[in-house]
Amino acid sequence: MTGATDPRPGAEGADRSAVSGRPGGAAAPGGAAETLGTLPAVMRQALFYAPGDVRITQVPVPTPGPGELLVRVEVALVCGTDVKTYRRGHPVLLAEAPAPFGHEYCGVVAAVGAGAEGFAVGDRVSSANSAPCGHCFFCRREQLSLCENLQPLLNGAYADYLLVPARIVEVNMFRVPYGMEPERAALLEPLACVLKGLEVGDVGPGTTVGVVGLGPIGLMMTYAAAGRGARVIAVGRNDGKLAAARAVGAAEVVDLRTAGGDAPAVVRALTEQGKGVDVAVEAVGRPEVWDFAVAMVRRGGVVNFFGGCEQGSVATIDTYRLHYEELCLTAAFHHTPRHVRMAAEVLARVDFPHRTLVTHRYTLDELTKALRAAGRETEVKGLIKAAVIP
Ligand SMILES: [Zn+2]
Ligand SMILES: [Zn+2]
Repeated sequence: MTGATDPRPGAEGADRSAVSGRPGGAAAPGGAAETLGTLPAVMRQALFYAPGDVRITQVPVPTPGPGELLVRVEVALVCGTDVKTYRRGHPVLLAEAPAPFGHEYCGVVAAVGAGAEGFAVGDRVSSANSAPCGHCFFCRREQLSLCENLQPLLNGAYADYLLVPARIVEVNMFRVPYGMEPERAALLEPLACVLKGLEVGDVGPGTTVGVVGLGPIGLMMTYAAAGRGARVIAVGRNDGKLAAARAVGAAEVVDLRTAGGDAPAVVRALTEQGKGVDVAVEAVGRPEVWDFAVAMVRRGGVVNFFGGCEQGSVATIDTYRLHYEELCLTAAFHHTPRHVRMAAEVLARVDFPHRTLVTHRYTLDELTKALRAAGRETEVKGLIKAAVIP
């Protein structure tokens, strides 16, 4: 699915007129069909060497192979996953160091690999960071987020140019509507995860949703749940984020700093008959917050463990509540092509709060600073999500 959100009249013609033809220096083994002007020979790319060690290096500008696109990055957003990777590495996303990383981006197509259909040089694009294969055990069971063949993942958005793998181009890439701000478009992938997560429980008019954790994910969850007509109680511990939660649609906010020893009780007191929320969303990824989410849900309610904890983490569950109160404890991970398409539509809504979410900008050379700020190793007031602009 490609380009469905592009309303530009004559966009194809306008884009193609900008094509200057493939310069001699950028000969493509796979036969790059089109190239934007003369690409430089080298570019800057962030490489993860080890936890806490990310370096900006000079590497050759890649040439897109069959089905691939080369994108000139306009903005890359710092994801919670990147912060975790920076701190402790990532066994799945980054197999071998040094490795390029960064996966939330918006950019302009700079070169098109042979056979990459639906995109032209000059198109502004964004994509998800993976695409399911469609034929493995899990894909055949429609559990596309669990696809066993999500590799090659998209990594390397912290760079001047990014190579997008063929399957992602084919399945999970979008042309950005004319005039849409790059930072808004770059939220495609995390928003797709949120929209998938929102399908856990019956979120809509008449339901009360508790969201604990007000990072970009928790805030987008708040926005999207409120947008579906649910009453959202947002739980956090940071002035800026609590204010942001209200701004994106939370009906109530609970400040953990002032809620006292039994904060889940404070949340429950804000629900009908004090019974607890219908759907509890954990958007932090720490076992103690998983406990919090269970403590605020009502009998017969649903808990969505949305935040992934560190490998080896263990949470305990009160079996009495699970059985006699018929709790539904479940989780949502990653995204599927359907949710990526939905995200592309939601991003185009006038009220989508990207300015509330993306609060700080850094240059590519300042990437380490951005990662440390996003991981709260350094305190940056008001930071919700950081953008890196090469
Ligand atoms: Zn992400
Ligand atoms: Zn698969």
